[in-house]
Amino acid sequence: MERMNFGRLSAGRAGEMPKTPISRGPDTPTPDTRHSSPRVAVIGAGIVGAAVALRLAEKGVETLLLDGAEPGSGATGASLGGVTAREQTRRDFFELCVAGMAEYRRLAWKLAPAPWYRADGSLAWVREPAGAAALAERVERLREWGYAAELLPAGRVLHDLQPGLAVSDPEALVAWFSEEAWVEPLAMTRRLVEGVRNAGGRVLTGAEREVVAIEVEDARVRSVRLGGGQAIPVSAVVNAAGVDADRVAALVGRRIAVTAPVSLALTAELAEGRDPLRRPLRVDRVFTRPDGPGRVMLVPQVDLGDDEIGPLPLDDARVVEALALAAEAVPALAGARAASADVAAWPLMADGLPCVGAVPGIEGYFEAVTDYGVTLAALIGRSLADEVMGQAANALFAPFRPRR
Ligand SMILES: Cc1cc2nc3c(=O)[nH]c(=O)nc-3n(C[C@H](O)[C@H](O)[C@H](O)COP(=O)(O)OP(=O)(O)OC[C@H]3O[C@@H](n4cnc5c(N)ncnc54)[C@H](O)[C@@H]3O)c2cc1C
Repeated sequence: MERMNFGRLSAGRAGEMPKTPISRGPDTPTPDTRHSSPRVAVIGAGIVGAAVALRLAEKGVETLLLDGAEPGSGATGASLGGVTAREQTRRDFFELCVAGMAEYRRLAWKLAPAPWYRADGSLAWVREPAGAAALAERVERLREWGYAAELLPAGRVLHDLQPGLAVSDPEALVAWFSEEAWVEPLAMTRRLVEGVRNAGGRVLTGAEREVVAIEVEDARVRSVRLGGGQAIPVSAVVNAAGVDADRVAALVGRRIAVTAPVSLALTAELAEGRDPLRRPLRVDRVFTRPDGPGRVMLVPQVDLGDDEIGPLPLDDARVVEALALAAEAVPALAGARAASADVAAWPLMADGLPCVGAVPGIEGYFEAVTDYGVTLAALIGRSLADEVMGQAANALFAPFRPRR
């Protein structure tokens, strides 16, 4: 079955005691009680690191959220932001994503108002017959797994859910996933970062705050050194560095197989007052969603070949084609002007699975590296903060631990 793949074809204060001890993880050695600093450094202020840091700070841990750039400027800032489990074919990964969706509802209530979170459901309309059959098969499987998925006649979708689709046959089937949600990833990350500060954590960003060394002594994390030269004693670090997680892992002598596939992320502007998309809509090879008033985001499945990460010219043929494909399905998008086009990389472990938890043998070193990081951020935040604090991790993460 085809994978949605988001349109990708290529490849407290220093010196205080912690309220509970810093965890060793399930398979690490006995804690060294001489080491009493409760300070935890979270490396990477993308959506995943920010979610972990917020939970830690709320637990009273002295939390440092460090990023060598601006919060959300990695994969998070380019993300479509779908909160979804429908692409997972492995049952345990699927269940993890379903739990991630539920955790979002709790987080949005907690941080209310949460204008960056929209529990609006989402639609998928694949017109080409083989793709439509694969989608129908997927809906069937998801229903068997208890997921809110159904195929609706296009006429009903037009009436109830998404007016303005260029539907020629009202009986054609459109998939509807009523419990899916989406977030504006950058806005949410900024809110998480604000939450870290409000809970007493510190957020240090910019080139001088890039973590360039992690001191490990007697098999336990002791300090981090920043690009600006500052060395900060810590009890634990969380590696949430996205596509750079392997470089951070190397700082503790560990190798992890993070890959960095790329996608094209576009935004487009519409004439004032025109907001034709009500919710995320996949049409054939293009994923679309609203992106604030008068704006839409598009992630087309296009071959990016050897393109460098970074902006593409707005008149690039693939940008023009993506807009044309979207406008063919939703005619009100005709005339949308490309506002940004970026080739963006996202973290994907070589085996395609999340990597979340303590690393045995290096006390105080934790990893949180994953694709579907938007869907999983809230759940990772809760589980990993518990684990850092010596509590059990959510059992759903058992198949996805760093050493599996
Ligand atoms: C186009 C696109 C569409 C996507 N669609 C979806 C979707 O619909 N649903 C979904 O769930 N997921 C989606 N994803 C995937 C999702 O966006 C990522 O899994 C998620 O953003 C990863 O977040 P992160 O916090 O782990 O990484 P990032 O956001 O990349 O953050 C890592 C941060 O670490 C910092 N950093 C790195 N090294 C260091 C260092 N040494 N010191 C300090 N800081 C460092 C970086 O500056 C960066 O800010 C999509 C991704 C893309 C690109």
